[in-house]
Amino acid sequence: MSNEHGLHARPAARLVGLVNGFDATVTLTDLDTGRGPVDAGSLSMVATLNAQQGHRLRVGASGAQAAEVLAAITKLAGENFGDTAGGVGAGAAGGGAPEPGTGGSAGTGGSGLDVAIGPAVLAGVAVDLSGYVAGDDELGQLDQAVATVGDELRGLRDGSPDHGEIFAAHLALLNDRKPLEEIRAAITAGTPAPVAWKQTYDELAAAFEGLDDAYQRERAQDVRAVRDRVLRALTGSATDEPTSAGAAPDSAAEGSILVVPELDAATAATLDAGRVAGVAVRAAGTTGHGVIVARSRGIPLITGIGDVEVPAGVVVAFDARVGSFEVAPDEDAVRATIAERRGERERALTRADEPATTVDGRTIGVLVNVGAVQDAVAARGADGSGLVRTEVLFGDRRTAPTVDEQVEQFRAIARALDGKPITIRTWDIGGDKPLPFLPQDREANPFLGERGIRVFRRRPELLRDQLEAVRRVAAETPVHVMFPMVTTADEVAWGLHELDDLGPRPDGLEVGIMVEVPAAALRIATLAIGLDFVSIGTNDLTQYTTAADRTNTAVAPLADGLDPAVLQLIDHVVRNAGVRVAVCGDLASDPQSAVLLAALGVEELSAVGPQVPLVKARLRQAVLSEVDTAAVLAARDAAQVRGLL
Ligand code: PEP
Ligand code: MG
Repeated sequence: MSNEHGLHARPAARLVGLVNGFDATVTLTDLDTGRGPVDAGSLSMVATLNAQQGHRLRVGASGAQAAEVLAAITKLAGENFGDTAGGVGAGAAGGGAPEPGTGGSAGTGGSGLDVAIGPAVLAGVAVDLSGYVAGDDELGQLDQAVATVGDELRGLRDGSPDHGEIFAAHLALLNDRKPLEEIRAAITAGTPAPVAWKQTYDELAAAFEGLDDAYQRERAQDVRAVRDRVLRALTGSATDEPTSAGAAPDSAAEGSILVVPELDAATAATLDAGRVAGVAVRAAGTTGHGVIVARSRGIPLITGIGDVEVPAGVVVAFDARVGSFEVAPDEDAVRATIAERRGERERALTRADEPATTVDGRTIGVLVNVGAVQDAVAARGADGSGLVRTEVLFGDRRTAPTVDEQVEQFRAIARALDGKPITIRTWDIGGDKPLPFLPQDREANPFLGERGIRVFRRRPELLRDQLEAVRRVAAETPVHVMFPMVTTADEVAWGLHELDDLGPRPDGLEVGIMVEVPAAALRIATLAIGLDFVSIGTNDLTQYTTAADRTNTAVAPLADGLDPAVLQLIDHVVRNAGVRVAVCGDLASDPQSAVLLAALGVEELSAVGPQVPLVKARLRQAVLSEVDTAAVLAARDAAQVRGLL
């Protein structure tokens, strides 16, 4: 197996497609792991074999066309299973290269408000099988449900240019031979169709979850999505899934409020912002990547509504600014608030391009966080980008982007921001951010493991390519580059060495680090020597200061960026860095917190796009000298800090 990333989704789909065209039974065994033999005609079986580059595979074939299929497989293997070096990724069943600029998000388009009203659409709840009555023709029921879902998925695939590959992958999972055979056998033995379907797809999801590779593990989410679609078709349950971009028009009412237990990044990226009025997340926490993606798209969002009972279809409303969520609210009152906030937003937008100069004369840079070129295109009034999340920009790639491809995307971002400075963060993977093209080992505590710059000390090649792309773009337009998850002075020295080893720095290229680890904040005076700036990642700095995993909803209330302990570290950084201090974590997107950060001495804030005009507007009204920073830093908790703002 010579493919750089092993038999991952796309070559696996090619192999399975080829095998199924012959009258033969074909098996695959990974001789290096001992796994197998598995049915080579089943995508899920081949994918869960998880054969990696360098592994030796044994192919077995029997049946009328055994010789022919072996010859065809040998030829396909000779062609690297259709993978071209540096080729771009696609979903399991094909699909094209992502359009430049989509970066895995369905664009912006949300209202950008923090208040919303609409009928509730419940998602992420288990399909209820209890009322299902098995009939005489369970196999017929299954065939019909699979056909219906197949039509749905083809419609979604063809109607969704940016996300067609997701639905193409779902189609491949739906029509996978091996699970279907198992399910049909169970039904023939007397098991009702939904029970048989659920059992097999649950097992399949568990098989994906058991894989070492983080990207492959995440595919369990796709298996569960297909499982639930078919269960809904079998039981006749209403479609209560999130409204995806390109979804059939009846899948959710226009302007509905999506109520979900948690919000994952894929759902947030594919929601149709034109049709979802807002998202209410039961779990607390504002710094998970799903929440970040939704906010950057301007989708009204509230988190932490808890287990309040929400009947499907009933009108609900929320106001994230005051933290309220109501079932059957006073609709006139909510609409009045919406009108007021819209007015406030429009006023902020008319002055978006003016600098954010406070009443007492300090001008704060307000920049935009970018995870897709579209974020930069849609940003209004941003003084540049204070954070380009490169791992998000290329997050849907199965193979590493080339230097040229990176240059093209960085250029597009700089162009969209009229040549204002862009701050490119080098690959920040690990923790909850797997990159398909850089498989990582399973770790007991991934957030405390190989994340950010740590990953590349063992594998510098990818970082060097990225730094080369940064250098090339920096020769054309103002660029800053920063390393994430830095802890020690050695890491800073190593990062600078990797950069400078490529040649003299282009004029104007500024170099910095992110401050996300308490140790880095505490010894910032040492770390910042030789740097041009530091940028505080309050999302991670908060999780590490409070020892509260940002993805664990049970401890989310602890991970509050306004915790005085976090603010004390920010204050320490401002006083001791000796270079420009920026904040690019979520805290910078909240207008009230932005004023506090500026009062503490932060010079630059980078916020999600829709918040940029509002942050600027709030700063223009602020008198920084009147903010009682001493009281804030001495406060007993985040609640008391809020009371002081
Ligand atoms: C942060 O940690 O605050 C940050 C900006 O990085 P990310 O959210 O991408 O981890
Ligand atoms: Mg971070």
